[in-house]
Amino acid sequence: MSKLVVISNRTADPDESRSGGLAVALWSTLKQSGGMWIGWDGRVCSHDNPNMTCRRAEGVDFFTTELTGQEYKNFYIGYANSVLWPVFHNRTDLAEHDPEFKLFYERTIRRVASSCFMRISAGDVVWVHDYQMITCGAELRKKGIKNSIGFFLHIPFPPPELIRCIPDHAWLITSLLSYDLVGFQTEKDFQNFQKYILNHTDAELIGEKTFFFKGRKIRAGVFPIGIDTGEILQALESERSRELNERFRRERTGELIVGVDRLDYSKGLPQRIHSIREFFARCPDKKKAVSLLQIAAPSREKVTAYEKLSEEMDYLSGKINGDLGDMHWSPVSYVHRNVERDDLPVIYRNSRVGLVTPLCDGMNLVAKEYVASQDPDNPGVLILSEFAGAAHQLADALLVNPFDAGATARAIEKALNMPLEERKSRHTSLMRSILDHDVHWWCGEFLNSLKEQEIWMVA
Ligand code: ADP
Repeated sequence: MSKLVVISNRTADPDESRSGGLAVALWSTLKQSGGMWIGWDGRVCSHDNPNMTCRRAEGVDFFTTELTGQEYKNFYIGYANSVLWPVFHNRTDLAEHDPEFKLFYERTIRRVASSCFMRISAGDVVWVHDYQMITCGAELRKKGIKNSIGFFLHIPFPPPELIRCIPDHAWLITSLLSYDLVGFQTEKDFQNFQKYILNHTDAELIGEKTFFFKGRKIRAGVFPIGIDTGEILQALESERSRELNERFRRERTGELIVGVDRLDYSKGLPQRIHSIREFFARCPDKKKAVSLLQIAAPSREKVTAYEKLSEEMDYLSGKINGDLGDMHWSPVSYVHRNVERDDLPVIYRNSRVGLVTPLCDGMNLVAKEYVASQDPDNPGVLILSEFAGAAHQLADALLVNPFDAGATARAIEKALNMPLEERKSRHTSLMRSILDHDVHWWCGEFLNSLKEQEIWMVA
């Protein structure tokens, strides 16, 4: 019987009772079709012979591997997060082009593809995820895999001028033409991809989002990822949430603006602190009545750019509190750690404003989680960067240019003064889009397109 094989940098942890929305959706899809999930287990081994572990949970086979120290340094920290991540997020200045990075990227993906190859049977549908795994499809094809293989890019696809900064960019991007279906978050990402493919490869456009290359047809598509709204509503109803909600009511005074992000330079965190400073300069009467709760999860701390950002945020949050705060009030509460995932919906619901201002972002799920967590009878207001993929779907948020501290400050003022009726009507429209395009819809759309492509090729 054919099965779904998911290949991603990290797998969900079968022992974690509550994983993220994406993991939950993929897992439930895998369970339905009888599937397999292949990826890194998050561990780094001290020798050159990484352990591969195989286990079965709820009908899904998990094949995980450790990374060697060299793979971790050069593939994960190096090529994936010091070349691909910055370039794809418009930060070519932060990219480090060390030839060792590419060498280990190729080797690591080849090793992963070899272990996948042994486990893929005829008729299986293979779904590869995200920037860390771009060349996996090409490696599988080299081994003779004829199965239907799809790829989804969770991050933005930048304009060709940026891609061209990557040494050997043609090798990297042409490898995407080994897939049957390549999925993007937004139409803009697809347009950038098409521009690159038509200008820098020999592929031809033979139909709507369809290319022909080396005897094969490749389709591309736009599949904006969604969230699991059911998971949020369930979390809001738990006993733990009720207690946390009660604490918020008892202990918090004034209005809360919330930001929840990984500590990443793409998220625009320093710019957010500047816009809060600008807001208090504009609305001094709001001092003591409003504060920003910024939760920033530690991320990729071994990459120099992240270390520097962490220092910058320590400085900026300390400085704004020192400059504007007093004994009874701080303009910014900066929490530099992960919080319990189940606590986020209550935190969002107790915040009058959700401030989601990335400088560049594939989708941004926090924006959708914030909206889904609101009380429909008294909802908060989402302020959203026009450079987040989510802005294409959530036009009823207050859209801002995150580089413009004055504009963001004015949006904060508008959000805090917004009448209930307007808040409700914006929330209803945002919620409709989030419910219509949730993570289950996303999984279904992508896999149906991939399966259609399979039939279409045989015909
Ligand atoms: P990215 O994938 O770039 O980190 P997204 O906003 O798309 O950005 O997804 C981030 C996910 O991680 C969301 O589901 C969010 O709830 C979760 N998250 C972000 N920051 C934290 C944090 N400090 N603690 C716990 N979960 C977090």
